[in-house]
Amino acid sequence: MLTAPGSGGPTARNREHFTGVSDSDNLEAVKRMATLTSMASARRAPLPRRVAVLSIHTSPLDQPGTGDAGGMNVYIVETAKRLAQSGVEVEVFTRSTSSALPSVVEMAPGVTIRHVTAGPFEGLLKQDLPGQLCAVTAGVMRAEAARPEGWFDLIHSHYWLSGQVGWLAKERWNVPLIHSMHTMAKVKNRDLAVGDRPEPEMRVIGEEQVVAAADRLIANTSDEADELVRLYGASPQSVDVVHPGVDLDLFTPGSRQAARRFHGVRDDAVVLLFVGRIQPLKAPDVLIRAAAEMVARDPSLRDRLVVAICGGPSGSGLEQPTSLIDLARTLGILDLVRFEPPTDRAALVEWYRAADVAVVPSHSESFGLVAVEAQACGTPVVAAAVGGLRTAVADTVSGLLVNGHDPHDFASAIARVIDQPGLRQDLSQGARMHAASFGWAATTAGLLSSYSAALGNARQLGQLAVASS
Ligand code: UDP
Repeated sequence: MLTAPGSGGPTARNREHFTGVSDSDNLEAVKRMATLTSMASARRAPLPRRVAVLSIHTSPLDQPGTGDAGGMNVYIVETAKRLAQSGVEVEVFTRSTSSALPSVVEMAPGVTIRHVTAGPFEGLLKQDLPGQLCAVTAGVMRAEAARPEGWFDLIHSHYWLSGQVGWLAKERWNVPLIHSMHTMAKVKNRDLAVGDRPEPEMRVIGEEQVVAAADRLIANTSDEADELVRLYGASPQSVDVVHPGVDLDLFTPGSRQAARRFHGVRDDAVVLLFVGRIQPLKAPDVLIRAAAEMVARDPSLRDRLVVAICGGPSGSGLEQPTSLIDLARTLGILDLVRFEPPTDRAALVEWYRAADVAVVPSHSESFGLVAVEAQACGTPVVAAAVGGLRTAVADTVSGLLVNGHDPHDFASAIARVIDQPGLRQDLSQGARMHAASFGWAATTAGLLSSYSAALGNARQLGQLAVASS
């Protein structure tokens, strides 16, 4: 198992290296690394010239925070832009969800999005997509066949549905397949919210097939790497740990007062923030229950508490779109909750700055971009001690981690931060420092390192084959 160089992380060394370094500074580092790596690897492992990125079930052009669009979409946008800036052309394949979409869109210099027509444009759910994988794969193969031979040097697939397409493409194009799971059925099913629907066995099998087919796997954290090995039988040598990142130029601390004015929140309000797709897995209900508990403990909060929830229904949450409203009404705090539609990045920054605490109570989380975005804005996080959140949040340094999902425990942890201004100030400072170790430039450098290793292995295998023939 490798921890890829450049993967940002909470180690003292990494923090020292990245603290106070903006993403644009880090970009220079990526470019330098790309140049050095390509020079050094002229004889050994080269960097790819072109990468086919597979994002079949959701497009990087979609608004994150609702439906199937979330952290993975942000991840692909941010790393694709930076890969292109370091000289690697990126073509992202995604299924077309509207007849109005052009077949090719230039998302950024060096990054194109190709919309593959497969099945009905609208109304197809993620769980229906396995039935369209053949059509998607045919579209991807056809697009590649229109190019000169050997167009793509490498495939990077995201989520198991894309991995299935990558599996066949890799064999036809004779290039390495790098795969990122983002979430895993076995982990989700193990940590399911009460009453939530488990992931189907078909997905479990599909993920096992992709793990077996991939040349390298990207894990968000070392916990995820262990899960890939233990639960899916991945070879430890094929797993690279590369932490996701945050846009350190966009998510920055700023005036809380101005941010509150921007969103029409009183200066003296106590603001608790949830950002993410609304579904049982993300447990926004735990925040609503915790807020009700806080008001019960301290009725004076009733006049000042604001619970802001940014995002739209997703996954099994689509089946009960009013459940959070109903819960808040039942608990008598509906007037304290602001349900905000999926929010763009600029307005989101102002929410993070406006908040006293960002709350991430998820039942399972492979990383938790929201936690790092909040911290980059200097806002402490109270999060569930699960999965990647144990890496994304440094307990007692940048926020507080809560064991389990008992709303009483969340209420106590949130109240600790709010009632002790000194603690909040320390956590806020710790949050900024912790987030500074997670720039997207470091993520991109980690991906390039993994790509390079995959190409190096492929070249060695090719040489062995020639030598033995
Ligand atoms: N997000 C957004 N607007 C919203 C809600 C969420 O842009 O209204 C973004 C958020 O900023 C983050 C991503 O969606 O970048 C969610 O990523 P996270 O890793 O927290 O959760 P995931 O969606 O991957 O489960």
